Amino acid sequence: MTKPKYLTGDNAAINEFIDRFDVFLLDCDGVIWSGDHVFEGVPETLEYLRSRGKKVVFVTNNSTKSREEYLKKFTGLGIPSDVEEIFGSAYSSAIYISRILQLPAPKNKVFVIGEAGIEHELRSEKVPFIGGTDPAFRRDITPEDWKGIADGSLLDPDVGVVLAGLDFHINYLKLSHALQYLRRGAVFLATNTDSTFPANHSFFPGAGSIGTPLAYMTGAQPLALGKPSQAMMDAVEGKFRLDRARTCMVGDRLNTDIKFGVEGRLGGTLAVLTGVARQADWEADDAVAVPAFYVDRLSDLGAAAAA
Ligand code: PLP
Ligand code: CA
Repeated sequence: MTKPKYLTGDNAAINEFIDRFDVFLLDCDGVIWSGDHVFEGVPETLEYLRSRGKKVVFVTNNSTKSREEYLKKFTGLGIPSDVEEIFGSAYSSAIYISRILQLPAPKNKVFVIGEAGIEHELRSEKVPFIGGTDPAFRRDITPEDWKGIADGSLLDPDVGVVLAGLDFHINYLKLSHALQYLRRGAVFLATNTDSTFPANHSFFPGAGSIGTPLAYMTGAQPLALGKPSQAMMDAVEGKFRLDRARTCMVGDRLNTDIKFGVEGRLGGTLAVLTGVARQADWEADDAVAVPAFYVDRLSDLGAAAAA
C-alpha cells in the first residue's frame, strides 16, 4: 500500500497538491470545527482556496441539520458560505427520494425517524412524510397502539419509505411503526451509518445506531445516503457536475470520509489530524482506507499563501 504524502510545512508540495484539484469536498466536524469551536485559520484557508478558483463543498454526515441550519452555523462561526455549498446527509436523503427513487404518488410518503433537519429537507423537495418530530410519535406505546399497529388500522397506507436518521427521541412506538412499514415492503433508507459521533470530548450514539435495530428486526440492510455510501457520491456528482479526477475529499475519519473518496475514485483524498483519525490508523494492517495525502490541520494548506 502506498504511503500517504505528508504536506505540512512543504509549500512546494502544498502548491502542487492544490493545483491538482478544482473541487474540494470538505467534511465538517473534525476538519472545519469541533462542535461549536472553529479551528484557527480555517476561514482564511477556505478563502485562500476560493481565491485560487477552487470550489469548496461541505459534505457532512450530520443528519440533524438542514442546509439552512448549517448556513446559520457557518455564519455564526465567521465562515462565509452559501447554502449551495452545503451537502448534508438529510439533504442527500431528500434528493435521493425525490429525484432518484421517484416512487409514484400516493405511495411515496416517508416514515421519518429523525429530527427537524430531515423534515426541512424533505419539505424542500416536496416529499410527503409522517413521524419525525410529530408529538403523536414522541410518547409511550399504549394498548391501542399495539392493536392498531398489528392490524394496520393505525398505519398510513401511503408510506412507501422508512428513513432512519439520528433521532434524540427514539422510542418503542416509532420502532414498531417502522417495523410494520418495512414488513409491508417499504424501501429502507438511512441518512448515514455513523455508529457514534464525537461531542464534548466523548462519543454519543450516531444515526447508524438508530437504524441498526431495524436492520436486526428485518434482516435487511438500509441503503445509506451519507459517507461512505456511493449513493451520496452520486448525489453530489449529480448536483455539482464534478470531474472526479479533479476532486479531492478532505476528512478526519478513514471509515467515512477517506473510504468515501477512495471508493468514489476521486483524484485525491486528504486526511487531517484534528479529528478522529491518527497516523497509526492508516498504518495498521487492517486499515479501512488509506489517504493519499495528510496534513496536521486544514490551515496548513493556507501556509502556502503566506510563503
Ligand atoms: N452525526 C451527528 C449527529 C453529528 O453531530 C456529527 C458531527 O458533529 C456527525 C454525524 C459527523 O459529521 P461530519 O460528517 O461533519 O464529521
Ligand atoms: Ca468528521
